[in-house]
Order: sequence, then C-alpha cells, then structure tokens
Amino acid sequence: MIRLKNVSKFYYSKGVIASGFTKVNLKLDMGEFVAITGESGSGKSTLLNVISGLDSYEEGEMYINGEETSHYTEKDFENYRRTYIGNIFQSFNLVNSYSVYQNIELILLLNGEKKKDIKDKVNELIQKVGLEKFKNTKVSKLSGGQKQRVAIARALAKDTPIIIADEPTGNLDEKSAKEVIQLLSQIAKDKLVIVVTHNYEQVEPYVTRKIKMHDGKIIEDKVIRPVEKQKNPKTHTYKNITFANKIRLGIRNAFNIIPKFLLVFAVYFFITSALLSEYASFKKEEHLSSLEGYNWVFTDLSTNRIVVKKENGEPFLDADYQKIEEIEAVKSISKNDLLVDGKIYLNSDVSYVYGTAMELNTFDKELDLGRMPTNDYEIIIEGSPDYYFMSEELLNSELNREDLNTAQIKEDYKLKVVGMKYTEEETNSYSSSTKIYVSDKVMKDIEKEINERYSTIKTLYQNQYTSYLVAPNENVPVGKAYVSQEFEYLAENVNPIDKTIEIEVENMYYDEKLNVTIDKIYTKNNLETLLKLKDYEENASTIFISTQDYDNLFNKNVYQSSVFVEDSREVEEVAKELQDMGIQTLAIKDTLVSSGTSEILRIFKTVVTIVVVVALLFVSYFIIKIILKSRNVYFSTIRMLGATKKICKNLLVIELFVVSNLAFFAFIGLILLVQNNVITIDYLNNLITYLSIRDYILLYVILILMSYITSLKFAKSIFKKTAINAYKEEV
Ligand code: ADP
Ligand code: MG
Repeated sequence: MIRLKNVSKFYYSKGVIASGFTKVNLKLDMGEFVAITGESGSGKSTLLNVISGLDSYEEGEMYINGEETSHYTEKDFENYRRTYIGNIFQSFNLVNSYSVYQNIELILLLNGEKKKDIKDKVNELIQKVGLEKFKNTKVSKLSGGQKQRVAIARALAKDTPIIIADEPTGNLDEKSAKEVIQLLSQIAKDKLVIVVTHNYEQVEPYVTRKIKMHDGKIIEDKVIRPVEKQKNPKTHTYKNITFANKIRLGIRNAFNIIPKFLLVFAVYFFITSALLSEYASFKKEEHLSSLEGYNWVFTDLSTNRIVVKKENGEPFLDADYQKIEEIEAVKSISKNDLLVDGKIYLNSDVSYVYGTAMELNTFDKELDLGRMPTNDYEIIIEGSPDYYFMSEELLNSELNREDLNTAQIKEDYKLKVVGMKYTEEETNSYSSSTKIYVSDKVMKDIEKEINERYSTIKTLYQNQYTSYLVAPNENVPVGKAYVSQEFEYLAENVNPIDKTIEIEVENMYYDEKLNVTIDKIYTKNNLETLLKLKDYEENASTIFISTQDYDNLFNKNVYQSSVFVEDSREVEEVAKELQDMGIQTLAIKDTLVSSGTSEILRIFKTVVTIVVVVALLFVSYFIIKIILKSRNVYFSTIRMLGATKKICKNLLVIELFVVSNLAFFAFIGLILLVQNNVITIDYLNNLITYLSIRDYILLYVILILMSYITSLKFAKSIFKKTAINAYKEEV
C-alpha cells in the first residue's frame, strides 16, 4: 500500500537546516492498525504529514500502490489525499463556526456529492460517533472528546482507505480518549489506520503493530498481532464540487461568522458610499464650473436656455412648438428669441421692472398674489423674491412701457400688474429670470419693436438712401406714404407726389422690400388733419406708411426661439432630442467662456478625485485583506480535506460577491428611500441628482472586480505554503 524507501525530510528555515526524520524505511498495508510512539520532536508528525501528502520529502522514494511519488506535482498530491487519506489531528481541524452536521457534510460537498445524497450518510455517521444530540450544535461549543468524534466522523465520511491520526487523544481526558481509540479500532478493520500516541498502553489492546521513533529514526517496529491478508484497497474517484454546492458553501461562509460578515459588509458599504459621494461631488463641481463664465452676444445667460432654429431655415409653426413642449425636461419656450435678450422695461413713479416678455397663455402656474388678467393691458409678473421690485407694492400698480428702440417712455401705454408669482430660478449673476406675461396684443407690439431694433431699415428715394425713419399711421392708405415737406428739397426739381420710396428691412432672418408711392406731403399746418399728430418738429424726419404695410414689414414669423429646460443638467439631453427633430441648437451654457484659472483648477480637481478614488479602493482592498486573514484557518482546513486552489478561490469569490452585493444594494436601497422622500438625508439627496444609471453600473463593476481580485490574491497567498505549514502558522 504505502512504502517508504530511505525517505528523509528536512526543514529549511532562515538558513538553518533541521531534520524532520532521516532514512526511514517502512511498508504499511491495509488492515493494519499502527501505533507510532516516541518522545516529542522525534519526527512522528513529520512522518505522518509526508505519508498524508500534506508535506513534501527531500530524499528517498515514497511509493503509493507501487507508484513512485517523487515526481508528483502539487495537484497529484491533492488528488492522492483526496482518494486515499482521511486525517485526524490533535487540534481537530474542524470549522468552528459550522455545526456538527455542516462539518461532516463539508467534506462530502467538497468531493462533489449532491446535497440530497449526503443527508442520510451524514446522519448515519453522526449516529456512529454518538453525537445525534449535537447534530446542529456549533462545533465551538463542543468538548474536546466530542470534537474529536466529529473529526473521526468526517474522516470516515470520505471513505478513504487510509486514516491518519496525529495524537488524536492528546487534548482529551482519559475517558474520552478511550472512546476515541475504540472508535478508531472499529474502523481499522478494512482500512489502514496510523495513530501517533504518547499513551501506548491505551492503544495496546487494539493495535496490530507498534513503531517507535527516536531522533528522526525508527528504532522499533514490532508486530503486535497478525493481520488478515487484505485485498487491494477500494478507492473512490471523487468528482469536483458541484456549482450549486459551491454557491451553498459560499453563501454559508458569507454569514456564518456574524462579526466578520458585519465588518466586510461595513467596508463594502463604506467604499460604495465613499466612491459615489466622491464621484458625485466631482460631477457637481464640474457642473457648477460649467455654469460659470460670460459671453458678449446674449444678455440672458440662463444656463438652462437653448437657442433654437429650424435646420431648413423656415419659421417655427405651432406644431413645432407643440412637439418641443412634449419633451419632458422642457420648462418653457420663448417663441421669439429676440425677446429673451431684449428685455422689456416697465416703469412708474414707484417701480422699475425689467424682464422677458412672455405670452400670457403659456402661464400655467398658481399665482401667489392677485388674479389672472382680464383685458389686453393687464399683466402678470413672475420672478425671484430677491429682486427689489418683486414687492407686494408692485401689485395693482400701473406701469408705462419704454419703447425698445428709443428708450422713451410710452406715456399712453399703461400696463397694470394684476398678478404675481414668486419663483426660485436657476440663474447666474449676469441675467434676471423675471418674466412679464402679456396679452397677445401687447406681445405683437413688443415683437414689432424688437424686430425693428434688430433690423436695418433702408429707404431709397430717387436712387438715394435717405436718413428717414419709417413709422405706421392709421390715417395713411395701404401702398401710400405721407412724407414731410423736406422731401421737396431732397431731389432737385422733382415733385415728390406719386414718386416711389423703396423701403427695405433687413435682419438676421429675412430681407423684405416694400414700394410705396408718396401720396401726401405733410406740413406744420396740416399735420394734425392728415396724421392726427401734433408736433411737427418731432415727426418731420419720419416717413409714415399704413399700419398694414408696416405690419407686413415687421410683424413677421418667428425664426428663432429659446427653449428653457427644467434644470441645466438636462440641457444636453434636450438638445439632442431637438436635433433629432431637425432643429439647430445652441446651448447658452456652452457659449460661456470661463477664465483660464478655473480651467487649471478643474484639471487639479480631476487629479485629486482620481487620487482619492484610487486611495479609497486601496484602503478597502487592504482592510478586506486583513479581515480575510482570519479565514486562513478555514481555507487551510478545507484544503486538507481536499479542496483545490480553484475551489478555495471560488468559495471566496462567492463569499465576497454575496457581501459586496448586499452592501451595494443596501446602499441603493438607501438612495431610493432618500429619493422617494421616505427618509431625508440632505447631503445624499443633493449628491444623487448628479449620478446616472451609468455611474451606478460602473461602481458595481468596480466593486465586483475588486472582490474578484481580492479573492484571487488571497487564494494565491494561501497556496504559496503547503497546506500543513499554512495551517500550523495559524493555529
Ligand atoms: P513530533 O511530532 O514527534 O513531536 P515533529 O515531527 O513535529 O516531532 O518534529 C520533528 C523535528 O522536526 C523536530 O526537531 C522539529 O523541531 C522539526 N520541525 C518540525 N516542524 C518543523 C518546521 N515547520 N520547521 C522547522 N523544523 C521543524
Ligand atoms: Mg507531533
């Protein structure tokens, strides 16, 4: 069965060579019950470890069933141990956090047996060693004798031909020791049992052979009683642990030591929250700094504003606006973009209000003060309470509008504030977000002025450009023009009557020409009757045309609008949807130029964030590694039971996977609670708005990767040493 030929074992440590045993010759057969005795340090344990394949030997040759083992790899020895050896140790080598049942079951699981096939076998073994009452008791709560009986049951569970027991009674009282030896003698019938003992008298009645060692050598080898000739040992070929059982064990290991579970959970929870909040605050900084800056083209620099224009150059239709409003994150649309930058100014003796003119029918909120307008000249003001003019006094006051072109107060144009709404808007310091909701009629007037303001108006008379203004007057017929007396001197010897004036309006969006014929010439005297105007001096440099013609020139379709989104973080998303609709977009946010120093600051912050994240990962990696050190005993134990490196690694991967997932999803649960206002953690609430699903997925992948790498490294480190050395170091 087993044969040792001149086998020697040396230990090398720190340059010193110690001898475990030297030139041992030994032949062991099935059916033998061998007692090995000898004083401490004589090499008994070393010999058993070599025979068990737990330790290597340096000299000679060991044969297993006639096969040389000097060329055996670690894997071969693993396989040998699995099929041949059942070990029993003085220190029991049980998994203390497992129950009696689980300890015995463990070895069967590791050897690929199915859960349902295991049950009867384990129960039978528990009965055999007399521990039925303790089946579900944790091993740590048992007495030494009971523990050793569990170890014997475990060694028997695998049904190996060889049982090797190193001082199995060393830690037991007299009575327990007797019981254990009796148990061993029972199983020795059809196996090879080797027992190391200090108390030979105790085993004497049962053994078939006595071997005495001294100073690393066998000094006595005596047959005590004859052994019946045994057939060759029957061995089982063991399969690998099934996937389901790996999961079962991995999950069991995740929870069976509660303090360890809590610690690992806490580390993962910490790293999840720390990484997320670090990343979120980085994104927040990025976002806030993207809102800084200035540009000189637009006056309304609201960072949630997108200027839009149709790609085909056509004006916007109502259908277009409807589609834009359907985009979820869109808060409001200012149809005439020029109105956004060209704020309107209203004033009275007590107040001075400026803001963006909005169509009244777009106001869909609850008023804070006053009521909705009932006629064309009543308005609503919406704005931040921080603005000085947003006081209650403003309500019911009558305001005059300034002409957008001349900045003159229009005395006869009074607008009454009948409703007010307070809002906190996302703004930056360069723009006010005040909105003035006006009737369609007032809006038309404003748009006209805006168009005039952004247009160049040329008047061509007798092939000369004049410096005259153009204004509408209700008393002028369509297609005609009333000009002042001065026209008589513009071209020599030409009577202005029936002559043509070409009026050209040019702006960013269109170019429009209109020909009118001079119908009447107004003077100081007939001004009043012709045009219903009083001051000739004030009007003398104006060409009056019909209101209809004037409207045709200036009251044009809208070509450029502004879309305001709920939150400037949604600008990109909305812009993308608009582009898909065939609309050109310009996000005001992107037009802001920030100063060079903030650029440097940004790079610095990015670097700091990366360093912090990497440091956090390393710290948690090392903490988990330290916690895992306590698992050394477990893994060298299962290794001695035949678990391969791969199995150890897999079990650990599953264990960490379970805990890291729990921690991750616990944190996600917390976030969901905060998001749905079940609990309030302002800090979290603020940060999570900056995180997207993509960020969570990325973090998850990082966590899982970290768990995997930790498991891999740990498994590698335990397998650097032989199983027995790894175990010895820990116990
Ligand atoms: P026993 O089990 O008979 O008490 P051991 O087999 O444990 O004796 O030890 C035999 C010899 O080998 C002793 O001299 C001991 O000091 C030495 N030895 C055992 N294990 C190691 C080790 N890991 N490193 C160095 N020397 C060792
Ligand atoms: Mg020993």
